[in-house]
Amino acid sequence: MAHQPGRHFLQIPGPTNTPLPVLAAIAKPTIDHRGPEFQALGREVLAGIRTIFQTEDPVIIYPASGTGAWEAALVNTLSPGDRVLMVETGWFATLWSRMAKRLGLEVELLPGDWRSGVKADAVEARLGQDRGGAVKAVAVVHNETSTGVTSDIASVRRALDRAGHPALLMVDTISSLGSIDYHHEEWGVDVTVGGSQKGLMLPPGLSFNAISQKALAASRDAGFPRSFWAWDEMLAANANGFFPYTPATNMLQGLKVAIDMLHDEGLDNVFARHDRAAEATRRAVRHWGFEIQCADPREYSSALTAVRLPEGHSADRLRAEILRRSNLSLGNGLGPLADRVFRIGHLGDFHDLMVTGTLSGVEMGLAACGVPHRPGGVEAAMSYLNGNLATARAAE
Ligand SMILES: *Cc1c(COP(=O)(O)O)cnc(C)c1O
Repeated sequence: MAHQPGRHFLQIPGPTNTPLPVLAAIAKPTIDHRGPEFQALGREVLAGIRTIFQTEDPVIIYPASGTGAWEAALVNTLSPGDRVLMVETGWFATLWSRMAKRLGLEVELLPGDWRSGVKADAVEARLGQDRGGAVKAVAVVHNETSTGVTSDIASVRRALDRAGHPALLMVDTISSLGSIDYHHEEWGVDVTVGGSQKGLMLPPGLSFNAISQKALAASRDAGFPRSFWAWDEMLAANANGFFPYTPATNMLQGLKVAIDMLHDEGLDNVFARHDRAAEATRRAVRHWGFEIQCADPREYSSALTAVRLPEGHSADRLRAEILRRSNLSLGNGLGPLADRVFRIGHLGDFHDLMVTGTLSGVEMGLAACGVPHRPGGVEAAMSYLNGNLATARAAE
């Protein structure tokens, strides 16, 4: 492809823009992963990453995409044939359930409409019928990246507690970690799955399992064979700051900087910045006259917004035109939402101008493609951002 002048706008909901200090750390020379310099780095990132999951529990770091950490969560805690309850919030929940089936688990998928999150009442009702404790795990997605819907994980925890059910609770936070408030420990989650390339502002390539004491105990009796993903060998090596096989050394150098950046800004400020960008985006979308895929405002995602185009208009054609004209990438519709929606990522390292710049690219693309809309969405977003300087003030 011919060079396009100007900076590329990567506004898909992950991978996200990697800030220069993180890129610079990754570009440093690779170090001996069995030497003292690495040991200090290993200790620092293994301790630091816990603060992002908001837990004192151990967090394992894999040199793998998020999908690897999905598999690790399942094979370390369960046995072939075990029953797992999942909730069809969208594409990513569906993919995780397909993986569970391929591994030989008995998957029960509570159906969903791809416009709403996990219904804690439905989980409680299902678990209430399971007097024999056949369900070994409940596995849900915190932020469903295909729909822009964030589920209330604390309410899912309460559903398990009210049902008095002993199942493990597993949560995918791949697109919420570092963008949307999440508490592994306080919310009683047994395995939290995370990834590097979304809110953590790193390139793809690292993923995480945060592990409760209950999950650790379950791993001792779990019947799945596992080796690369095995928690016991990881935790034994991690105790000294090392890894059982070559870790992604340079990515860990970047992770250290990313964690420091999140704490320098303050996690609460980071989350508020995401909330604000999301609200600005929704105001533009509503002004244009489009529907937001997430049906319940209480479940709006602060990491991304999925936008429904009017019937008869191709979201993929719009995205292609915006890429060509403005060098701006937007997320595509996944599964049944293909070509029906496009997704605006507003997570990771960005500021107001990137939000309004992104919305400008969309608004110009709408006009170019002849998609009927009310012009002025960008102004609606700007006036919201101008009137709401909460994040800017908090940072002063
Ligand atoms: C991106 C994403 C995944 C997939 O992660 P990979 O790194 O592509 O393997 C899974 N779940 C959610 C919610 C995601 O956003």
